[in-house]
Amino acid sequence: MTDASRGAGEFQLIDLIRRRATMRADVVLGIGDDAAIVQVPAGRQLVIATDTLNSGVHFPAETAPADVGWKALAVNLSDLAAMAAEPAWCTLSLSLPDNDAAWLEAFMDGFFELAGNSGIALVGGDTTRGPLSVCVTVHGLVESGRALRRDAACVGDDVWVTGTLGDAAGALAQWQAGGACDPALRRRLDRPEPRLSIAAALRDGIHACIDISDGLLADLQHICEESRAGAAVLLERLPVSPQLDAAFDVPTRQDLQATGGDDYELCFTAPAHNRAAIERVARENPVPITRVGTIVAGSGVRALSADGSLFAPSRLGFQHFAE
Ligand code: ADP
Ligand code: MG
Repeated sequence: MTDASRGAGEFQLIDLIRRRATMRADVVLGIGDDAAIVQVPAGRQLVIATDTLNSGVHFPAETAPADVGWKALAVNLSDLAAMAAEPAWCTLSLSLPDNDAAWLEAFMDGFFELAGNSGIALVGGDTTRGPLSVCVTVHGLVESGRALRRDAACVGDDVWVTGTLGDAAGALAQWQAGGACDPALRRRLDRPEPRLSIAAALRDGIHACIDISDGLLADLQHICEESRAGAAVLLERLPVSPQLDAAFDVPTRQDLQATGGDDYELCFTAPAHNRAAIERVARENPVPITRVGTIVAGSGVRALSADGSLFAPSRLGFQHFAE
């Protein structure tokens, strides 16, 4: 750290961010004025999401700053993926315990690596002193009326998930137990991959969609509530990574797969006649897409074990303020 970076004030920190900010041609006015101006294309709707990461709540306090930067943007892009919106612009509100320019540079390494990959421009934000907290707001674009929503599931739909489930929660469990984390599981916790391209490829053939941030059963429950339906999920169908399978006994890892948060995979519903099209998208992608259940009449999500017995999860998913 140089002397100049050690004593950086608010405006110097903003300047560091401004120098590295990703841009787009449709940004009329980016960082530097009281507000940003962007050009919204005709015929498209703006899709807006915001998510905060607090140190010690959403990531272990010792998480590398580059991973915090990546994850703060990734969890927001995951919400855009769940709506099948194309990322366009974002803002970044930072609460930092001190004016540590080296920490900020490392944070930006992760943040702008993902921003560059996903074509999103950073157009503004806020920088204050306080406990470490990162709030990102993303703006995406979708053709009018074409966003994927939670309220569009139909009775008889298949329920599908992308990727493998429970990996991030497995890493968290290993970390909380004080042991070493499996590196592949830890990477799922620290560097979630928003499923933007899969969502774009699937959009035409699917009904409802949500990203899995709080655990499959809890997030599928949101689809069910908004769509006024129920769901049945088969536990042994839930996709498992070799690393999770190797690290935990079967009941423990099934619990992590069904209820563990932070994987940022997609859960979506689609009519059975679209199975072949969805399997084609799966073959064209490095990420698996797996059929795990069915939307049924009624309400609530039931998870069934291989012998047909009802699975009782250890918890229904993460909720702030829950007892
Ligand atoms: P104001 O006092 O008018 O709110 P600020 O001094 O907070 O303006 O911010 C100055 C400019 O820097 C604004 O354009 C703002 O959007 C941008 N900015 C501040 N903090 C950040 C940040 N963490 N990331 C990106 N842009 C930021
Ligand atoms: Mg301000």
